Amino acid sequence: MSHLEADCLFCKIIRGEIPSYTVFENDDVKAFLDISQVNPGHVLLVPKNHLVNFFSYSPEDAQRYLQYIPTLAKAILKSNARFTGMNVMTNNGQVAGQVVMHSHIHLIPRFPDDGLTIPTRNNAAKYDQAAYEQIANDIKQSLEVS
Ligand code: AMP
Ligand code: ZN
Repeated sequence: MSHLEADCLFCKIIRGEIPSYTVFENDDVKAFLDISQVNPGHVLLVPKNHLVNFFSYSPEDAQRYLQYIPTLAKAILKSNARFTGMNVMTNNGQVAGQVVMHSHIHLIPRFPDDGLTIPTRNNAAKYDQAAYEQIANDIKQSLEVS
């Protein structure tokens, strides 16, 4: 079995100590219904290794665990004729809304008039070319040194 942690909720689900409505499982990942069901069909894709969030992923982890997203997304989409789209998202870190500190990807099917709103804001008016360039350069520099 993979690296699991005693007190982690999703490690307990992976070990079968806490029940889940599993929709897919193999050696790499487990996918099960999110208990909160933001929309019906809301699934969590979870790596079987205890990785905290994307900041813990190596490129190999990304290849291994994220490869299942499109297959799962298409299966969920097909599972209900009302579904016409999907939000695929992951919260990385407490400040980003991560509550369970074991990496998971939310797949939330969408249908017309489902009442869900994903918060967005447009701050373009606050940025000029210099500000955009500064931000882009800071990120590019981080990529070079990592
Ligand atoms: P996040 O805020 O991204 O860390 O999301 C954690 C998610 O885990 C929430 O959407 C919860 O509804 C979900 N969750 C918590 N406990 C369980 C559980 N026992 N089975 C399935 N999902 C759970
Ligand atoms: Zn865990």
